[in-house]
Amino acid sequence: MGRPMELGLKGKVALVTGASRGIGREIALTLARNGADIAINYLSSDETAKKIEEAIRELGRKAVRIQCSVSGYKAAEAMVKTVRDTLGPIDILVNNAGIIRDKFLINMEPDDWVDVINTNLLGVFNVTKHVAFSMMRRRSGRIVNMASLSGIVGSPGQTNYTASKGGIIGFTKSLSRELAPFGVNVNAVAPGYIETDMLTGIPKEMLNRYLEYIPLRRFGKAEEVSDVVLFLASNLSNYLTGQVIRVDGGLF
Ligand code: NAP
Repeated sequence: MGRPMELGLKGKVALVTGASRGIGREIALTLARNGADIAINYLSSDETAKKIEEAIRELGRKAVRIQCSVSGYKAAEAMVKTVRDTLGPIDILVNNAGIIRDKFLINMEPDDWVDVINTNLLGVFNVTKHVAFSMMRRRSGRIVNMASLSGIVGSPGQTNYTASKGGIIGFTKSLSRELAPFGVNVNAVAPGYIETDMLTGIPKEMLNRYLEYIPLRRFGKAEEVSDVVLFLASNLSNYLTGQVIRVDGGLF
């Protein structure tokens, strides 16, 4: 007889950064549908963040939306405190917020580099730093970091972005070893091309060219990434830490 599947998310508190759109929005809704209370972090899309907050409350879960740039250390600290005060200690942290400023290196300005590194990589440090100790003390927790296939294989025009995503992978591996003795699992997800606002900036001809290289012959959907995050946040992945799971339709 098989074991009953218990995801173990009921009543857990999840903070999802960059949850107002795209993949983060889908992660917030998926975790909520499976019983978690959700803190929705965003930078500027207050209207859409509010709609997600309402949708989560309609699911019968608690939700709070918090405007905060993850690139600020003090702001991240204040955000984590707000989550604790309103929902309780954080059980699941999904570091998803991310931006692109694609340019070939010879055209890249220092601001293009700094903005991407500060949001994507420093942001992961800032938020995780304020969540990790509480997870260690409670001897349980899940941290899921949003990397990218580009951070593994490289991508022209994305030296800033790939440096940030490669950095996230190294961070994930080191932190998983630091936190494993405390029962906290740390993993990363590396999506390929996923249909969100992030892809809309890429010219159509280029996108069609990418399609030829994807064995599954289509771009991914945000929910196909959030399903993997659900797995990593749940009891189904109890013996998995320090891993990078690619969600890329078989690319490369
Ligand atoms: P998206 O649709 O552009 O959404 C980005 C999210 O990040 C938004 O919620 C945005 O908030 C938030 N954000 C941006 N800067 C922030 C900051 N400083 N502080 C807090 N939140 C911030 O992107 P996506 O495609 O869903 O990507 C989500 C993650 O997946 C990113 O880390 C991205 O690098 C990664 N990824 C995406 C793809 C893809 O093909 N789409 C592939 C590989 C990896 P506002 O709405 O307020 O701006």
